[in-house]
Amino acid sequence: MKQIHAKFVLAATLVAAGVVPTGVWAQTARSPVAPRRELVESVVREAYEKFRSDTSGKNADYIPYLAQVDSKMFGIAIVTTDNQVLTLGDVKYSFSIQSISKVFTLALAMEELGPDKVFAKVGSEPTGRPFNSPLAVVDMPSHSGNPLVNAGAIATTSLISGQNAGEKWKKILDFYSKAAGEKLVLIDEVYKSEAATNTGNKALSMLLAKYDRIYADPFESVDIYTKQCSVGVNATQLARMGATLANNGINPATGQQVIKSEDIPHILSTMTMAGLYDGSGGWAWHVGLPAKSGVGGGIVAIAPGKGAIAVFAPPLDEAGNSVKAQEVIEYVAQRLNYNLYSPTSVGLK
Ligand code: GLN
Repeated sequence: MKQIHAKFVLAATLVAAGVVPTGVWAQTARSPVAPRRELVESVVREAYEKFRSDTSGKNADYIPYLAQVDSKMFGIAIVTTDNQVLTLGDVKYSFSIQSISKVFTLALAMEELGPDKVFAKVGSEPTGRPFNSPLAVVDMPSHSGNPLVNAGAIATTSLISGQNAGEKWKKILDFYSKAAGEKLVLIDEVYKSEAATNTGNKALSMLLAKYDRIYADPFESVDIYTKQCSVGVNATQLARMGATLANNGINPATGQQVIKSEDIPHILSTMTMAGLYDGSGGWAWHVGLPAKSGVGGGIVAIAPGKGAIAVFAPPLDEAGNSVKAQEVIEYVAQRLNYNLYSPTSVGLK
C-alpha cells in the first residue's frame, strides 16, 4: 500500500515537472494538457508549418457556395476537457458544419428516444460506399445504413419531434449551440445554395420512404437536414463541440451536461466506424480516434477524457474528407500518443 502511494507521489511529481509526458503516470495529472501545454503547442505549430503548403485536394463543388470558399484557409483549434484552448491560423472564419452536424443530431435523437430505438430505426453499419450513395440504401439490410451517411442522417433528423418543421429546426439549432457553448447561426447563403441543388438527398429520402425507413415527411426532413448542414461554426466552436463529447457530454466551458453520458460510447463508436465515410477504415488504422468530417472542410477528432482537435481546410480528398485536416490530426495524435488502441495511450507500456 505504502509502495503504491510512493509510486503515485513520484508519478504526480514527474508529471507536474513535465518529465513524464504520457503513459500510466500521466493519468494522475489533473489537467489533460498542463503541464504539457508547451509540448502540445509546439506539436500543433509543427503540424501547421509542415502541412500549410500542401495544395492537394479540391473544394467540394456540388454545393456551389463551397466551390468559391478560399481554399488556402487553414485553422487548428484544440479545446481540452478542462477548457484550455489552443488555436492557430484561420480559427475565426465561420464555415458550414456540413456532415459534422450529423453527430449532434444523433445525440439529440438519442436524448429524445433513447439509443435502442435510434439503433433500431436507423442502424449502425458501415456502408463501404460514398456518403451520398443511393446504392447503399437499396443494398443494405437496414437501408438507412448509419446516422453519419446522408440517408441515415436524414432518417435521424426525421426522428426529431416537434409540432412543425420550424420547431424541430429550432430544437436542433439550440442543441448544437449548447454543445458549442455559444449561439450558432445558419449561414443563409450556404443553405440556399444547397437547397437549390439537393436533388440527390431528396432522392435518398424517397428511397427511404419506399423501405419505410423515414419517420416524418421526406422532403421536410431533407429541408431540416439541409439547414443543419448549413450551420456556421469556426474551428474553436467546433473543437468545443468535440470537447463536449470528450468530456462525457459536459460542455467544458459552460459546465452544462448537453449530451447524456450513457450516449457518449454509442456516438464515439459510430464516429469511429463511419465518421470519415469510406475513408473510416484507413483512418482507424492510422489514427485510432473517433472523428467526423464535413464537406465544408472541417474535421473534429475526439480524444476521450482529454479533449478535441478541430481543423478547417477546405480542399477534400476523393472520399470528401479535408486533406490537411487529416494530415494535421494524424500528426498531432501520433506525436501526443492519443491513438485509443495503442497500449501506451492507455498506460500499458
Ligand atoms: N450537406 C452535405 C450533403 O448532404 C453534407 C455532406 C458532407 O458533409 N459529407 O451532401
